[in-house]
Amino acid sequence: MHYISTRGHASAPRFCEILLGGLAPDGGLYLPQSYPKVSGDELNAWRQLSYADLAAEVLKKFATDIPADDIAELTRRTYTAAVYCNGRPGDDLSQITPLRVLETQGERKLMLQALSNGPTLAFKDMAMQLLGNLFEYALARQGAELNILGATSGDTGSAAEYAMRGKRGIRVFMLSPHLKMSAFQTAQMFSLQDPNIFNIAVKGVFDDCQDMVKGVSHDLGFKASQKIGTVNSINWARVVAQVVYYFRGYLAATTSNDQKVSFTVPSGNFGNICAGHIARMMGLPISKLVVATNENDVLHEFFQTGVYRVRKSAETLHTSSPSMDISKASNFERFVYDLLDGDADRLRALFRKVEAEGGFDLSGRPGSDGDEFAKVGRFGFASGRSAHADRLATIRDVDARHGLTIDTHTADGIKVAREQLEDGIPMIVLETALPAKFNETIREALGRDAERPAGFENIEALPQRFDVMDADVDAVKRYVAERTGL
Ligand SMILES: *Cc1c(COP(=O)(O)O)cnc(C)c1O
Repeated sequence: MHYISTRGHASAPRFCEILLGGLAPDGGLYLPQSYPKVSGDELNAWRQLSYADLAAEVLKKFATDIPADDIAELTRRTYTAAVYCNGRPGDDLSQITPLRVLETQGERKLMLQALSNGPTLAFKDMAMQLLGNLFEYALARQGAELNILGATSGDTGSAAEYAMRGKRGIRVFMLSPHLKMSAFQTAQMFSLQDPNIFNIAVKGVFDDCQDMVKGVSHDLGFKASQKIGTVNSINWARVVAQVVYYFRGYLAATTSNDQKVSFTVPSGNFGNICAGHIARMMGLPISKLVVATNENDVLHEFFQTGVYRVRKSAETLHTSSPSMDISKASNFERFVYDLLDGDADRLRALFRKVEAEGGFDLSGRPGSDGDEFAKVGRFGFASGRSAHADRLATIRDVDARHGLTIDTHTADGIKVAREQLEDGIPMIVLETALPAKFNETIREALGRDAERPAGFENIEALPQRFDVMDADVDAVKRYVAERTGL
């Protein structure tokens, strides 16, 4: 299996060569030369597998340069009930990503697949935990080391730190806005005492943190000498790891491959739902993939109109589902590549237009950039939008009807999924976080605190380890160099 860049750069690397990287050299995103297919017989055989072994089967199709036995060992080490143990009462923790029926109306069925039982209580653990083990494995094979530099306003940073803590050959330098994260999220990150994890609280906002990371990345000499890498949502291995739970959800919801299911995915950077698209391209019988956005509805706008219009940072709203507060959807380019039937020249032109003019238009109207929007239906995509009032109403309704507290992002998913139900086709909503992470809104909706999983009762009281820094690129460079000794 070789990989291509969406923008046409022709080097055809293999899985391990793109594992530690982000963008392709031409600024594009990596995709396999062609999607591997899963036959009906294979799918049937996969019905019996544990999550870890299912993950190994999926990964083997994409990582043909890692011996199959090594893959099986890595996934078994990653997907253990002990890692995914923070379940709510009622989740069957022997089942990683357990699926439950939330409600049925006649032939219509709404299901919830729990992805947030990992160490940081959000779905990003599903992929990031595997990435930690894959990175350690690949670095050991090459006798190399890696210094991960990132910026976070919450979920990504903590998932990365919990995945990389204690890993040989890896350090994590994570920038976050000083005093701007919730007490819970701050405690989750800053209470880590592992010597390879460095929390840097920047005197500024999230954008300042991101600008510092960009500033460092633009210094190619520094980046090379300090072995700087990232783990952001465009990382190909993260996307592949997410493909697994679509298979798992499908297999748990069906008894025969003649049946179809749909998924609704609370979306921001289009990373999670991109994995669903890939699962479908591999042959998984998915009916609809429904993109659920919050007030930052860049993606909903595209799936309704064919116009992709990125927002300026100042236009990005701070909402009560903050992990979906995006101005542009960084993985969307992968889907557009397929929509254009792999025409890298046109894709490059469209994304140059995004940089120059803020967007493109595939609606087919006079003067537009193309008419591919007409084909979106063939890929089975639909979309919906949910705002703060919807979120509160959905959290209250699910609590009253089912006695279940859901988080704000999952609430956006359920709100949108209920608009998209079809007779005879189960709709699976991906639960992306546990409510304890977003307690302020749970209090607003329900007048009480969200339940905390065992082990999280007093995390705000744990000793914290972090350094405060001005929003200054040179300061972070000095900080990193002093600690790597490179
Ligand atoms: C990251 C995140 C999302 C958005 O996922 P994308 O892959 O960026 O679309 C949704 N919900 C939660 C809780 C998240 O942490």
